[in-house]
Amino acid sequence: MSKYETVIGLEIHVQLSTKSKAFTSDDIIFGSEPNTQTGAVSLAHPGTLPKVNSTQIDYAIRLGIAIGSKINRKNYFDRKNYSYPDLPKGYQITQDKEPICIGGEVPIFVNGEWKTIGIHHIHMEEDAGKSIHDQDPNHTLVDLNRAGTPLLEIVTDPDLRSADEVEALMSGMRQLVRYLKISDGNMQEGSLRCDVNISIRPFGQDEFGNRCEVKNLNSMKFARKAIKFEVNRQIELVETGGVVEQQTLNFDPVSGRTSTLRTKENANDYRYFPDPDLPPIVVWEEMIAIQNDKIPMLPWNAYEIFKSKYFLSSDNSLQLISDRATCEFAIGLLDFCKTPKLVANLIIQKLKPLVIEKEISFEEFPISNNQLIEFLSLIESGKVSTSVAYERLFPILLNNPTQRVEALAQKEGIIQNSDSGELEQMIDEIIAQFPDKVKAYRNGKKGLLGFFMGQLMRSSKGKADPKIANKIMLEKLS
Ligand code: ADP
Ligand code: MG
Repeated sequence: MSKYETVIGLEIHVQLSTKSKAFTSDDIIFGSEPNTQTGAVSLAHPGTLPKVNSTQIDYAIRLGIAIGSKINRKNYFDRKNYSYPDLPKGYQITQDKEPICIGGEVPIFVNGEWKTIGIHHIHMEEDAGKSIHDQDPNHTLVDLNRAGTPLLEIVTDPDLRSADEVEALMSGMRQLVRYLKISDGNMQEGSLRCDVNISIRPFGQDEFGNRCEVKNLNSMKFARKAIKFEVNRQIELVETGGVVEQQTLNFDPVSGRTSTLRTKENANDYRYFPDPDLPPIVVWEEMIAIQNDKIPMLPWNAYEIFKSKYFLSSDNSLQLISDRATCEFAIGLLDFCKTPKLVANLIIQKLKPLVIEKEISFEEFPISNNQLIEFLSLIESGKVSTSVAYERLFPILLNNPTQRVEALAQKEGIIQNSDSGELEQMIDEIIAQFPDKVKAYRNGKKGLLGFFMGQLMRSSKGKADPKIANKIMLEKLS
């Protein structure tokens, strides 16, 4: 065990799924031809002026409410000045002194339990374009399609202690922004990325060590590698008498190493100041109320309900909260069934794979909730065994989605015989038919029970309820 504790804080960038950019009406469609979504404002032509896309404000408020932030009733945009080819204006519009959301917490699920990560603030900003260094040997190319795309930056407190926790937070954020319908949360397409601030300190020490910030990690695999490399580098440095200096680092996915981008001494001076082209944002009570109404049951609350109200396992609860549609579907079904575990199994093993395979939503699912409830009650009452229900009844139901489930089961002849009078008669016949075997059983060859049950299944054509049949068989044989 290392004697050093890892301390991590994230700056998470979420690309919002608005139709147009943050301050102009250019479209945002991922994968478009380079420089086809770049009007005069995105290109920073002289005389152009930004105009706020109000949807980004609504989305920021929605996320803030969901994680318990204080909504900053009067916030404003600042200019962050720096010079780079993918930044035509020479400054990025962001929020510095007065961000839109302050504080909050996000629960993450890690190592079998929930842990709360503090949120420092959330601010709005625009994305830069993209510099492309690998397509021309002599030039850097630039694609400005992404320039001006609205982002939220979620800045956490330094509450994370491992790469596992970072991964749990990133997948939790992806899940949350999808529940809230404010972003597609796609890491591969760059809709979700993070800067990782890393420091180490001896276990037991309250004071934090100096942190290094690794920029722009767009996959969990790279984030993990960068954290591992950086933690080892810092420990080695401290162990050999060195001091970790605060700096900004690049991560090279090929070598798996971090390298210095800038040190504290030559840190950029961004000369922040309020953007004079944009009025302050005043958030009215009504704007908050409207967003509040759009917040669904959140994954961590649903998890709690699945576990404590319906006594589902932790694994099942996690599977049911994996996305909003599944979660809401489960909530809608659970109250109508006596055995929650059956509902969980049906959704996890049957319905969800089908929905994915057919590329449909739960609302489009051909079998209605009422039919699913009837289907489950046939299993619950023992009228149809679980395996027969799944393997035979379910496919029939899929092909006849408007017919009554019990009628279909009857027609198919798979209703189990639990009428004990009829069963007793069949068992009596079997016992009379095989006197030698009965004798052997009574003399201790208990393994013959399987033989008798097999005979019974044959005479009942598989419809005998195994539980009841077993009980009667044992009584008759003893
Ligand atoms: P700034 O970029 O304005 O200097 P902060 O210093 O407050 O902002 O922190 C930026 C990010 O760095 C936050 O995510 C925060 O949690 C994280 N952070 C701050 N101090 C440490 C530390 N000692 N170790 C690891 N992460 C840290
Ligand atoms: Mg920062």
